[in-house]
Parts: sequence; structure tokens; C-alpha cells
Amino acid sequence: MRIDLHTHSRASDGTQSPEELVRAAAAAGLDVLALTDHDTADGWAAAEVTARDVGVTLVRGMEISTQLDGWGVHLLAYLPDPTYPPLAEHLRRVLEGRSGRTPAIVARLNALGIDLTVDDVARVSGDAAASGRPHVADALVARGAVRDRDEAFARYLNAGRPAHVDRYAAPLREVVRDVAGAGGVSVIAHVWGRRRVQEPGPDLLAEAASLGLTGLEVDHQDHAPQVRARLRDIARDLDLVVTGSSDHHGTGKVDHDLGCNTTDPEQYERLLAAAQAAAAASGRSTPAVVRP
Ligand code: AMP
Ligand code: ZN
Ligand code: FE
Ligand code: FE
Repeated sequence: MRIDLHTHSRASDGTQSPEELVRAAAAAGLDVLALTDHDTADGWAAAEVTARDVGVTLVRGMEISTQLDGWGVHLLAYLPDPTYPPLAEHLRRVLEGRSGRTPAIVARLNALGIDLTVDDVARVSGDAAASGRPHVADALVARGAVRDRDEAFARYLNAGRPAHVDRYAAPLREVVRDVAGAGGVSVIAHVWGRRRVQEPGPDLLAEAASLGLTGLEVDHQDHAPQVRARLRDIARDLDLVVTGSSDHHGTGKVDHDLGCNTTDPEQYERLLAAAQAAAAASGRSTPAVVRP
């Protein structure tokens, strides 16, 4: 069983349509794929149709931009009812914050002498739920200002770079509660990835666990082996599920091929059991796992 629980499509900032992504998962020999676009369920319906077609098990999820005591945290939510009003409101605010800051980013790039418009960004983001930094990066590539997304982030868009503009992130404590209220389960994505410090630290992770967090994404390209070992220990101490995934973005992120990290089948079963319990407790109508 090869299980990849974190991937993106063009419904957010991946470069493949949901159909193309699910087909690519089948071609890569995955048995289980979770579609986890940023802050949206927009890709779910198309992914479901293709999953039935190609015989891949599909877990419908999303990756929610949250913050915990000032630390940006990406929270994977699996199998929640996306229409549950408190959850839908978090997603709406994050998406609005993401798209809403594009003019400010473009203005900074213009001030640096780069000729780019908000329309250029909208054109590359297409039918994505919101325009984010990766779409600004793609627009810069299209303009010939940079070679690829990585260079765009490194030169302009990362925190501390001249075109960086902050945006809204939802409070993690509330989102963990509301994902449970929506009948889903939550897992912190790439817990200590892309940061020089190991934050949020063990005490905050313990608090999140006490609030209903179900798991930690340990096996991720942004985690060095020692980081994975330390997170595995913390997950064991807190009785959290351990997941592993590619965080695939099509060609939008290098070294994140489908299945490059996978989730242990036993951990996957624990995650599904927790989701089933959350769904029952919520009384909501939640998306089932799509089984071929
Ligand atoms: P935003 O939410 O608009 O600030 O965009 C953040 C997203 O950009 C993250 O969720 C990543 O998926 C993506 N990202 C961050 N750094 C890079 C990078 N160096 N190359 C490609 N994508 C990146
Ligand atoms: Zn992304
Ligand atoms: Fe992420
Ligand atoms: Fe991601």
C-alpha cells in the first residue's frame, strides 16, 4: 500500500488539474491519495470522478493556513464537511486575505522596476480559489523576470524579501476545534519545515493535541532525518498519528514528486478511525473516502 496524504492541484497552487493529479497518482503507483489544496475544497468533485475512473482511493482534505502564537502553521484537515459554517468562514477569510494582498505585492514589484499587473497574476492563477504568492511567482516567470518559482521566492516573495506582504492566517486553536465540529480530523503539516527554529515547540504541540489535533506530518521533504526522529518521539509521547507525504505541487515545487514520502498503512488506518469517530460525533454529513 502506497499512501500519499498531502498534494495540491490547480484549485490552489499546484500546476495540474485535479484530474491530471489523480491520473498522475495512479501512474506513480499510489493506492491512496489525499487532495489537500490550500484553504479550499474546490478540487474535490473533479478528483472524485477521476479517482473512480482510475481506481485510486481518494481522501478529500485541505491545507488550512493558520497561526499559533505567531507561528505560521499549515493545518491539514481530512474529511471535514466544508460547508460547516465556522469552517467555511475561516476558509473565506484566508482566501480573501491571500487574494486581497496581491495588489500590494504587485505595487512593491512595480516599485522595484518590474512591470507586472494584478491581471497578469489573475491570468496565471486561472480558476484557483485564490491568487497566492506562487501565482505571483508564475507571473514573474511568464514575464521573464525569474527562471522559476524558487527564484521568485528567494529574490522577492519570501519573508524579509522586498516584495513580501503578510496576510491573514486563522487561529489554529479555533480551526482545530472547527475541523472537529465539521466532522474531520486535523494534522499539522511539515511541522518544523522551512524554519530555522523548531517551533511550535513540544508544549504547543501538546496543547494542540489536547484540543483535538490528530496527527503530525513527520515524513516531509522539508524535514531533515534528525527532525523526523525528534517529531516521531513527540508524536509517540502525545499519542498522535504520524503521516508522511509528498506535498506535490506538479512542477511548482521541485523534489516533491508524488510518493516521495508516504504514510504507514497502520497510521493511515488510525487516521481514518479518528475521522470516523469525529464524523459520528459531529452529526454532520462528511465526505466519505472514495474507494475504487
Ligand atoms: P501564500 O499563502 O500566498 O503566502 O503562498 C504560500 C505558498 O507558497 C506555500 O503554501 C507554498 O505552497 C508555496 N511556496 C512557498 N515557498 C515556495 C518556493 N520556494 N517555491 C515554490 N512554492 C513555494
Ligand atoms: Zn502550496
Ligand atoms: Fe504547506
Ligand atoms: Fe502543501
